[in-house]
Amino acid sequence: MDNDLICNYKKCRKRLTTFAWVTSCSHIFCDEDGTREFNKCYTCPACETSLSDKFDIVRIDLQPSEQYKSMVLAGQRPEVIMEICSRAMSFWTYQSHQERTYQEYMCNKAKERSVQLEKYYEQVLSTTQAELSSLKNQISANRKELESTKKRFNEVSEKLMERNRQHQKLQSMYDALRRRTITPSSFDGQLGRAPPAALRGHDSSFDMPIATGQDVLARQSSLSNVLRPAGTPPEKEFVLRPSSTPVQLNLSHQDLSSVHIVQNRFNMELGTPSKRAGGYRRGAD
Ligand SMILES: [Zn+2]
Ligand SMILES: [Zn+2]
Repeated sequence: MDNDLICNYKKCRKRLTTFAWVTSCSHIFCDEDGTREFNKCYTCPACETSLSDKFDIVRIDLQPSEQYKSMVLAGQRPEVIMEICSRAMSFWTYQSHQERTYQEYMCNKAKERSVQLEKYYEQVLSTTQAELSSLKNQISANRKELESTKKRFNEVSEKLMERNRQHQKLQSMYDALRRRTITPSSFDGQLGRAPPAALRGHDSSFDMPIATGQDVLARQSSLSNVLRPAGTPPEKEFVLRPSSTPVQLNLSHQDLSSVHIVQNRFNMELGTPSKRAGGYRRGAD
C-alpha cells in the first residue's frame, strides 16, 4: 500500500490502484482526471508540458494480469529489459520523492500553523488566567465585604432588638404610670362635674311634679306660653273669665284663649301708662 502512487492533480490526490494515466514528464493521474483533462488538450495538468508525441501519454493497468507480465518484456535483450526496468524505477522514485517533498512541505506548514496557534492560545490562556485571577480577587473581596456587612447587620439588629426591649419596658412603665396617675384625677373630674348635672336633673325632675297639668300642656302646645312665665295666677284667672266656652275645651281652644289673654293684657298694659291713649279710649268708649 505504501508503494501506491498518488494522483498528481492538485485538487484530487487520490491513491491510484486500478487504472492511471502516465506522462513523459513523469507525472501520473487517476483515470477520471486523465480522461477529462487529456480530452480537452495534450498538456500536462501538473507542469503544463506539451505532450504531443504518441507515447507522451499512456493509459496503464496498475493490476497487470499474469499473461501481460509474461509477455510485455519477453523477447527483449537483457540490457533493454534492464533499461526499461530502471526507467520505470526512476519514475517511481521521482514520484515518491515528489510525494515526500510535498508531505514535508505540508508538515512544515502544519508545524508553523501549530506554532502560531500555540502562541495565540497561550496568549488567550494567559489573558483568561489573568481575568480569572482578577475575578477570584474580586470574589474574595466581595466575600470579605459580605462578611463585614453581615457582621454590621447582626450588630445593628442586636441593637434594634435591645432598643425594642427598652421601648417595650418604657411603654409598660408609661402605661402603668398613666393608669396610676390619670385614673384618680378623672375620677375626681367626674365627681366634680357630676353634682351639677345631678342637681340639674333633680331640678328638671322636680319641675315636673311642681308644675300643674294645665301648665305642662300649655308649654308643650304653644310658644306664646314661653314668653309668659308659667304658673302666674292672675293670667290663669284672666283666662277663665273672658272665655265663655264650655268646660270640655281642647288644647287648641285653650291656646286661642291664651293668645287673646296675652293681647288683652298687652293692650291694658299699654293703655295704663299713657294718659292720652287711655283718655282717648275712654272718650271713644
Ligand atoms: Zn485524480
Ligand atoms: Zn508534467
